Amino acid sequence: MSQAWKVRRFMAGVSNSLSLKHGLSLWCPSSGSLDRAPLQPWSVGFRSFRRSYVAASSAFANENREFVIVGGGNAAGYAARTFVEHGMADGRLCIVSKEAHAPYERPALTKAYLFPLDKKPARLPGFHTCVGSGGERQTPDWYKEKGIEMLYEDPVTGIDIEKQTLTTHSGKLLKYGSLIIATGCTASRFPEKIGGNLPGVHYIRDVADADSLISSLEKAKKVVVVGGGYIGMEVAAAAVGWKLDTTVIFPEDHLLQRLFTPSLAQRYEKLYQDNGVKFMKGASIKTLEAGSDGRVSAVKLGDGSIVEADTVVIGIGAKPAVSPFEAVGLNTSVGGIQVDGQFRTSVPGIFAIGDVAAFPLKMYDRIARVEHVDHARRSAQHCIKALLSAQTHTYDYLPYFYSRVFEYEGSPRKVWWQFFGDNVGEAVEVGNFDPKIATFWVDSGKLKGVLVESGSPEEFQLLPKLARSQPPIDKARLQNASSVEEALEIAGSSMVMES
Ligand SMILES: Cc1cc2nc3c(=O)[nH]c(=O)nc-3n(C[C@H](O)[C@H](O)[C@H](O)COP(=O)(O)OP(=O)(O)OC[C@H]3O[C@@H](n4cnc5c(N)ncnc54)[C@H](O)[C@@H]3O)c2cc1C
Repeated sequence: MSQAWKVRRFMAGVSNSLSLKHGLSLWCPSSGSLDRAPLQPWSVGFRSFRRSYVAASSAFANENREFVIVGGGNAAGYAARTFVEHGMADGRLCIVSKEAHAPYERPALTKAYLFPLDKKPARLPGFHTCVGSGGERQTPDWYKEKGIEMLYEDPVTGIDIEKQTLTTHSGKLLKYGSLIIATGCTASRFPEKIGGNLPGVHYIRDVADADSLISSLEKAKKVVVVGGGYIGMEVAAAAVGWKLDTTVIFPEDHLLQRLFTPSLAQRYEKLYQDNGVKFMKGASIKTLEAGSDGRVSAVKLGDGSIVEADTVVIGIGAKPAVSPFEAVGLNTSVGGIQVDGQFRTSVPGIFAIGDVAAFPLKMYDRIARVEHVDHARRSAQHCIKALLSAQTHTYDYLPYFYSRVFEYEGSPRKVWWQFFGDNVGEAVEVGNFDPKIATFWVDSGKLKGVLVESGSPEEFQLLPKLARSQPPIDKARLQNASSVEEALEIAGSSMVMES
């Protein structure tokens, strides 16, 4: 098998992950057919169980911790807030993080964080959780005030389930009463042997990655973005904001292939092109080439052609960060740690939330992992409420995806779309992208999913109601609607008639 073919296959695999068509994780690398795994009775029964806590130490003077969250990202920040709301944080909760920063709203990293330096880019502490949902900004001082122990830059490297202990990179031994795994994902990388680790080649998962990219952008002239999913689209929009020569390369036929219809993608592609972005579709990467200074200097494609680049950003998906928790029980179809509708793993007292959790997607009767900030927030709140209160109901998530680009000051056209539901069945498009456009997915006469670009707050609020209620819809009426407003009115009235 040729190297180019292998890489093409690899790229196609990870890029497919950015799709809803066959799964729910727009961000996750997983095979389409497997992502649709129906709910199965667990091989190991989930026991309804609350561990008797080890002795809690309000000053954490010993190695016993009542509640430990591993991972200091989006889900951890929202989980901490829920602990505080229940009066269960002070002296009882410890967060162990790989990063140097308190939890923050990660989506900012490829949006306002990458604004050109003269356009007021976002920086910490501005976007600590929970500002993304209108909540309090939880700075490092907030955690101190709330009596939450934060261990920074000390990733967990091992777990002993029997002894209920964690080992960290620095050698700490942490005994936990209940453990919440919130380790998220790590960015998929190109192999070192094809240049995946060259200086000037970037992957974006955390603030350190984004800072490293910014230091490259400051000197860059030619940027290549590999991947036509969210990360690729957002980074490309940022790079042209820096007035850099920007080329996006991906193996599919159009942008965001697993969510956008070809016709919808065409609108966005045209907008990107009008902003100076070049696309190379259906293309595979053979190697990333180094120049005489050892930095990346070009991208060699499968057909032998060369694209010059001093900065390359790889956005080809992510993998659940399950190591060192594999013993807790992984899902073999969608990856990640298997949990039930209250985020309990098969090991009593151990929970998993956010990107890393493989949970029952009740609405569509299948197991899914969702790499999306809305799920990170909701899963954290649901899990901690179930752990600390009498709440017993099952998590019932409605898939929701969004993106916002070209939002910097002075940008001629801002983009903000939202999608709710499932993109199955026939797609009906309404509107001209001036600036509004909507796509409705209709299956067996019912509205299953809807995407709107540049909606008003009221219109965006209608979308989850439509996707959740799946009203019967007259497709012909939708098709004849003369505007997005009229089409949403038709959909809204179908919902009213239904109820
Ligand atoms: C650049 C970027 C842009 C995004 N944009 C959007 C968007 O526009 N919309 C959207 O909905 N979603 C977006 N997402 C996805 C969203 O950010 C994630 O779904 C969300 O952050 C998941 O939260 P989490 O807490 O599960 O994982 P994370 O926020 O990734 O947090 C996991 C944390 O665990 C830490 N960790 C990992 N292993 C260990 C260990 N062994 N020990 C200790 N700590 C560990 C990590 O360092 C990290 O701090 C984006 C993601 C990225 C990377």
